[in-house]
Amino acid sequence: MNLVRHFIGGRWTDAANGGEYPNHDPWSGAVLATVAAGDAEDARRAIDAAHEAFPGWAGSLPGQRQAVFLRAAEILARRREEVRALLTAETGCGHHFANVQLDFSLSLLRQAAALPYQSTGQILPSDVAGTTAVAVRRPVGVVGAIAPWNSSLVLGGRAIVGPLALGNTVVLKPSEESPTSGGTIWAEIFAEAGLPAGALNVVTHAPGDAGAIGAELIADPRVRRINFTGSTVTGRRLAEQAGRHLKRVVLQLSGQNPLIVLADADLDHAVDAATYGAFVHQGQVCMCARRIYVEDRIAEPFVARFAAKVATLPTGDPADPATVIGPVINKWSLSLLTRRVEEAVAAGARVLAGGAPVPPCYPATVLTEVPADAELAFDETFGPVVVLEIVADADEAVRRANQSRFGLTAAVLTGDPQRGVAIARRLEAGIVHVNDQPVNDEPQMPFGGVKESGWGRFGIGFAADDFTETQWLTTRDSPRAFPF
Ligand code: ADP
Repeated sequence: MNLVRHFIGGRWTDAANGGEYPNHDPWSGAVLATVAAGDAEDARRAIDAAHEAFPGWAGSLPGQRQAVFLRAAEILARRREEVRALLTAETGCGHHFANVQLDFSLSLLRQAAALPYQSTGQILPSDVAGTTAVAVRRPVGVVGAIAPWNSSLVLGGRAIVGPLALGNTVVLKPSEESPTSGGTIWAEIFAEAGLPAGALNVVTHAPGDAGAIGAELIADPRVRRINFTGSTVTGRRLAEQAGRHLKRVVLQLSGQNPLIVLADADLDHAVDAATYGAFVHQGQVCMCARRIYVEDRIAEPFVARFAAKVATLPTGDPADPATVIGPVINKWSLSLLTRRVEEAVAAGARVLAGGAPVPPCYPATVLTEVPADAELAFDETFGPVVVLEIVADADEAVRRANQSRFGLTAAVLTGDPQRGVAIARRLEAGIVHVNDQPVNDEPQMPFGGVKESGWGRFGIGFAADDFTETQWLTTRDSPRAFPF
C-alpha cells in the first residue's frame, strides 16, 4: 500500500495527530494510497519550516535557483510515464489531458528557470538633488498555495513554481482528491532537483478538513500571500478571512464559460472545437465551455452534427488511450451532475445527447432550452454537460454571454477574425480565444478571470505582481538642507 505523507522541512512525516485517510481511484474505486490526514498543527510546522528556509532561498544566487528548475524539468521528463499513470489513477485523467498537463508543467519549469535572471528593479528620476532612487522587487516570504484536483499537476505546479522562482518559500495544500499528483510528486521532484529543505512544504488532509489548514495559512502573519485555485464558494470564504488579516490572495475561481458560434464559422471546425472545449477531461477543466450560443442561421446543421458527434464519444476506462470521457472525480460530483440534468429536464430542457449517468462516468451530455432559473443555466457544473442555446445574432450572444456572474474564459468561432476580435472586446472575461475553443493555457500567459471568477493573474512574468513586494529605496550623495 502506498503511503503519502507530509513533506515538511525536507522530511517525509506523518500527521501530528497520527491521522490517515484512504484515497480512491475514481474509475476502479480501489484504494490507491493511505494519506496523512493533517490539520492546523501540521500547517504550523510547515510554515515554521518555510519561514526558516526563506532567507537562504531568497538570498541564493540566480544560477543556483536556475539549476534547480532545470533539474526539476529533467526529472519530470524522466518520470513522465509514471506521472501520466498517476494522473490517471488518482484523478481519472485520460492520456490526452495527462499529456497536456505534462507538457505544460515541463514548459513551466523551463520558463521558471529564466526568472531568477530577470531584472529586479528600476532606477527612478528624483527632483531631490544628489538622490539615487530605485524600485526593487523583492520576494515576499512564505506563500500559501491551495490547489484543486482537476488539473492537479498543472494547478499544483503553477501554485508553487512561479512563487519559488521569484525567491519565495511555499506551503502547498493539495486537494484531498490529488494529494500525490497535485502535491507530493512536486515535493519529490524538487527535493531530487536540489531545492533546499523547507523551501517547498506539502501538507495533506482528509476530505472535509481543508478549512483548518486554509485558516492557519491565512491567519499566520509569516505567510505573506495566498494563492488559490478552486470554486467561487471556497474562494469567497478565503477572501473574507484574508480581508480580516489584510492578506493578499490571488483567486482563480469558477467559470461558466460561453462559446459563441457565429453563422460565418466553418461548420466542421466549429463542431470539433465545441466538442473538445466542452468535453476535454470529461468537462472537468475550469476553462471548459459550459454554454454554447449558436447563431440561428447555422443552428440546424451545427446542432445535428454536434449532437451526433458528442453521442459517439468513447466513455469508460481512462487508462484506455481511446477513451475520451473517463470517470468523474467522485460520487458527489456524479450525483450533482445527475440532479442538475434531471431538474433542468423536469423544468422543460431537451436532451440532445447523453443525459443519464453510467457510474462512475457521466456520458457527454448536451441540453437545450434550459430555463434560466435551472442551476445548469447559471452555475458552474463541473463535468461533461453543456447547455446549447440558439440566438438571433452576435449581439444577443454577447448579451447572454455577459449575463453570467462569472468571467473566466470565452470563445468566438467566426470566419472573420477581425469581427471575432471586436466581439472579444465586448465579452466580460479574463481570457478570450477567437477561432478556438476556451481550453488553452501556456505558462507565460496571464491566466485569470473577472467578476466572480476571481482576481490576480497566474503566469510567469505576470505572477511577479502578486508574489513580490516593490521597495522604494533612496540614497542621498550629500546632506540635504531641511527647513527646520
Ligand atoms: P473543487 O470543487 O474544485 O474541489 P474547492 O474550492 O472545493 O473546489 O477545492 C479547491 C481547493 O480548496 C482544494 O484544495 C480544497 O481542499 C480546498 N478547500 C476546500 N474548502 C476549503 C476551505 N474552507 N479552506 C481552504 N481550502 C479549502
